[in-house]
Amino acid sequence: MIFDVMTLFPEMIEDHCKHSILKRALEKEIFSVNTINPRDFTLDKHKKVDDTPYGGGAGMVLMAQPYVDAYESIEKVGNSITVMLSPQGEPLSDKIVNELAEFDQIIMLCGHYEGFDERIREIIKPREISIGDFVLTGGELPALCLIDAVSRKIEGTLGKIESADEDSFSNGLIEYPHYTKPREYRGLQVPEVLLNGNHKDINAFRLEKSIERTKAKRPDLYKKWVEKS
Ligand code: SAM
Repeated sequence: MIFDVMTLFPEMIEDHCKHSILKRALEKEIFSVNTINPRDFTLDKHKKVDDTPYGGGAGMVLMAQPYVDAYESIEKVGNSITVMLSPQGEPLSDKIVNELAEFDQIIMLCGHYEGFDERIREIIKPREISIGDFVLTGGELPALCLIDAVSRKIEGTLGKIESADEDSFSNGLIEYPHYTKPREYRGLQVPEVLLNGNHKDINAFRLEKSIERTKAKRPDLYKKWVEKS
């Protein structure tokens, strides 16, 4: 898997990848993360990438030429998809993450300021993805969310690939509660069933808790799960 991130702020992506699980996976070459800065593709001597909006209004609009030229400079590898991070896109979900994890290359366009000149969408025709109904200052955090979530689905990124299988959403439910040492903390005990080593009982307990939690915290998911079961 190759993640190619088009961004005016490459350090934001590179710095995040220097930590924890992503760092280890990059060192093991399980996937790679490249940054492409549209500013390097401007034809303007001041390296201008944005300008005022036609029709007036606040904010600056990202110009088509540096973005399209930067995009066209990226070598397309195998089964490749292009994603524009945008509050107007489909909301990111575990289902979309699984779909994206099937590709060999994900090219991401991070916006900034007022967003993209519409012709970038018209020419590149990306899949637009949002990380929620709120507006951030730039597409870098959403791109990092996507890299993080997709990379967890690639075998070798996590210590045990099974740990992704049991996460929230993978079976339509949110995850059961976890406990670690000590057995008692401030008078609160670890449930007895988790201590007895009986995996059938443990699995039954965890499923019951998952169902209970989903019903209480995410009735929308619970309804879908009941309809499917
Ligand atoms: N004017 C745009 C609008 O109302 O749709 C918002 C532009 S936003 C300030 C700048 C950039 O941040 C966007 O182009 C996008 O790349 C990114 N961004 C902001 N919120 C986002 C979200 N919820 N999901 C994905 N990307 C987002």
